[in-house]
Amino acid sequence: MARIAFIGVGNMGGPMSINLAKAQHQVQAFDLSPTALKAAEDGGATAAGSVADAVKDAEIVITMLPAGAHVREVYTGSGGIFENAPKGCLFIDSSTIDVATTREIISEAKAAGFDMVDAPVSGGTGGAAAGTLTFMVGGEQAAFDRGQPAFQAMGKTIVHCGEAGAGQAVKACNNMMLAITMIGVAEGFNLADSLGIDRQIVYNVCSTATANSWALSTYCPVPGPAPSSPANRNYEAGFTADMMLKDLRLAQDAAQKAGVSTPLGSEAQALYALYSNMGEGGKDFSGIIQMLRGKSGD
Ligand code: NAD
Repeated sequence: MARIAFIGVGNMGGPMSINLAKAQHQVQAFDLSPTALKAAEDGGATAAGSVADAVKDAEIVITMLPAGAHVREVYTGSGGIFENAPKGCLFIDSSTIDVATTREIISEAKAAGFDMVDAPVSGGTGGAAAGTLTFMVGGEQAAFDRGQPAFQAMGKTIVHCGEAGAGQAVKACNNMMLAITMIGVAEGFNLADSLGIDRQIVYNVCSTATANSWALSTYCPVPGPAPSSPANRNYEAGFTADMMLKDLRLAQDAAQKAGVSTPLGSEAQALYALYSNMGEGGKDFSGIIQMLRGKSGD
């Protein structure tokens, strides 16, 4: 079993680190949030006092941080991973960040004597807790192979997408599709409400018909039909609207650079920006149904 350092044990990293500990890996966790760190410790990880402390004896370092700036700081900043991890260590960044930053950091890691892959995930906090995440991995085959014991403890579907950055590229496409789908599902439920149709009936039909999607069947944006969805907890995240907005910006940035037309991705970004500007960015991204309805409440 491996010695694994886990930096960033929030909504996703917390349950992921706990699954590594359950699989008998020795997990040293660190997070700036004492609450998040305590939850990881309660689940079987050992709490470290700093990034340096967590990584100093690690064979594998996993990061699950909010955005590119955090990832750059934690890897390359003073007191960070590059300075303190043993040479030859494997780095796995599972945060969702932009392809350019990913490629830069992976290239700097290689120059400094480390293997590194980008390995963003899909499956939400439910998938993180259940150990059923999908990992989209970019980087060299040997590094992908080395990461398998860790990936297997946290996920069910592990896909090598290509060279460095390829995992982030696939993730940007996935989340753009997810945001567009969530808005579509929300509009469908809002229309059904106004037509006086019971939400459970809409769910029963559409989740077994051509409109089915993860946003509908698993992450249903109205309370009731899918008991584990954030709609049943007043849209407590889950996956925040601000994180979705970040991912939509990554996708639009990539689309503009590639000269690709993504009109619905662009509209989804505008709607999530509006929702965030209303002060709702900390809510789950499925809460956008309330803005689209033009009123709060369930
Ligand atoms: P989160 O905010 O719950 O967790 C991030 C954690 O990183 C926080 O606990 C924060 O304190 C910690 N952190 C920030 N800077 C740090 C630093 N310098 N050192 C140590 N810890 C630091 O976010 P999350 O929902 O777990 O998302 C993490 C990443 O996973 C994001 O990139 C997100 O886009 C991606 N993601 C999230 C979901 C989801 O459903 N929540 C799904 C797939 C991917």
